[in-house]
This record gives sequence, structure tokens and C-alpha cells, in this order.
Amino acid sequence: MNVNKFVLLFILAIVLFSCNESKVEKKDYEVEEVNQLPVIVIHGGAGNISQKNLSEKYVELYSHSLSKIIDSGYAMLSKGEDAIKVVERVVNLLENDSLFNAGKGAVLTNEGKAELDASIMDGKTLNAGAVASVSRIKNPISLALKIMDNSEHVFMMGSGAEFFASEQKIEFVDNSYFITSKNKERYNRENSPMGTVGCVVRDMNGNLCAGTSTGGMWGKKFGRVGDVPVIGAGTYANNQSCAVSCTGWGEYFIRQVVAYQVHARIMWNNQSLKEAVESTLNEVDSLGGNGGMIAINKNGDVIIGFNTTGMFRASIDKNKEKKVEIFD
Ligand code: ASP
Repeated sequence: MNVNKFVLLFILAIVLFSCNESKVEKKDYEVEEVNQLPVIVIHGGAGNISQKNLSEKYVELYSHSLSKIIDSGYAMLSKGEDAIKVVERVVNLLENDSLFNAGKGAVLTNEGKAELDASIMDGKTLNAGAVASVSRIKNPISLALKIMDNSEHVFMMGSGAEFFASEQKIEFVDNSYFITSKNKERYNRENSPMGTVGCVVRDMNGNLCAGTSTGGMWGKKFGRVGDVPVIGAGTYANNQSCAVSCTGWGEYFIRQVVAYQVHARIMWNNQSLKEAVESTLNEVDSLGGNGGMIAINKNGDVIIGFNTTGMFRASIDKNKEKKVEIFD
């Protein structure tokens, strides 16, 4: 073999070796990504909830629901299900549960009708879908997802949103489906304006997603839209920072652009998730607003913050620790 051939073979061997090396590295990286333990947090609203005004029977009912629903979300995530699918399914379960102010059991407008809002955001692509003021859609979060996936829009409302829903074969119900006598009586009695539902997750691939669904505020003017379907106010997700779902007095959450403010504080103010949630809630407080939020970051840390006496909430963190709580 002459010298030239030898040099050529030598170079070829180095190239092949380094290709193989980088393949191994990539594979390891992928395995590490896929093996992340999932994280899930849900809420069923924040407000004037205390041991004094919530009977033991209701404490039990809420705790049981939150516990069952978070378990089913975690089971989906553990099977490798994608963040968006899990948020949709979990919010569907909360919407179908008449204990909460979303879907069945939603609060009513000053005209005695249910008008529902919802939104969902994918932290990987920053795609988002939102729907406001629909009155015949059984699961508004599913319509928000269809708007995200199957339309060129982010935000639709009212009759146009419902027309799109019929094209997408979304399930319709009569407005009376949402109105339960138990809830009507309970909300009148307790004068509790909150009970919105939400979910944030980090799936096994490290993707973040947030979703929120609500009937809004008790006795709201018909046509009023709160923070929940406003991307950046009630809902936000970005794989670079965090996923956030809010509940509370929506007007204040819109004015403080709450969910996006948490993201911005992490991105450009170098704040930890905890600092970002706390400072943002202080901003809400400074205007006289109240409520709370659930948040997770890309490392899978969980922060739940509220400035009310209670918040229906549950979480399963990255160490598989499960919590179901109501009071401060
Ligand atoms: N934020 C919701 C709204 O203002 C209400 C709630 O969270 O309970 O529509």
C-alpha cells in the first residue's frame, strides 16, 4: 500500500469513528430526555374558601375529585402521552365534574345563562387556541384545541366559534346541561365567584403545556370575557421558562398580564419560578385583585401561589410526591 492510500484510509477511519461517536451521543441525549419523570398540577379555583364556609362533606367531595383526576392525568403521562393531550383530557374531566366552575356546574351570567371560556397553549411550539362566550359546547377546552390545531386562528368567540365547532364534530349540549340546581344554590349562598379549572404538565419529553377553562365570574354581564381565554393573562406555556394556569378575579389578571408576567420575570429578570409567581401575585394584589395560579418550570419545579384563603389544588411532582390541598 502506498503512502497516499494509507493516509486516505486513515482519514476514512477517523470520519467513520467520529460519526459513530456522535450517533451514540445523540442517542444518549434522547434517552435522557425521554426518561424525565412527568409532572402535573391541577386547580379547581381559588377564592374565599375556608374551613368555616366549606363543609366537611364538600372538603371530601373536592379532595376525592382532585385526587382521582390528577391520578388519571399522571397515568397518561407515565405511559408517555404527550403534554397537550393530557392537559385536554384532564381539563375535560374537571369540566365534566359539576363541583367546579367550568363546563357542567359553571357559574351563570346576570341573565341566568352559562357562557364559557377556555384556552390551551403548547410550550414547545408556542401554538395556542382560545374560545370565549360559548354556550352550547360541552368541553370548551377541546374546542380551544381544535382552534389551535385545525384553524389559522388563535382566538374565536360566540356563534362563529360554535359554527367552527360543528364543522369539527365537537360535542354540543343544551345550555341547561351546565346549570345544576345544587351549584346555583351553593354559589348563591356562598357568594363564591371562583372555581375555574386548570392544568399544567411537563411530559416525559420535557414539553410543557397549560390549559384553563371557566364559566367566568358569578353574575357577570352577558358578553363579559375574563382572563382565562386571553393567552398571556390566564394561560401561558413556553418550554424555555414555564407553564402557568390562573384563577381569580379575571379583570385584574388581564391588567397584570399574569401568566406572561411570570414567564417574563424568569426570562429577563433571572427570577426563580417561586420569585416570579410571588412577585406577580403582589402586582395583582397591588391593584386590589385576588386569585392564584399553578406553575411548573422546565426543571419540573412546582409552585402554587394564591392570595385568597384557599385554592382547590393537587400536584404530583418530579419525585412522584402527590399533594391534594384546599386551604392555605
Ligand atoms: N378567572 C376567571 C374569570 O375571571 C374566574 C375564576 O378564576 O374563577 O373569568
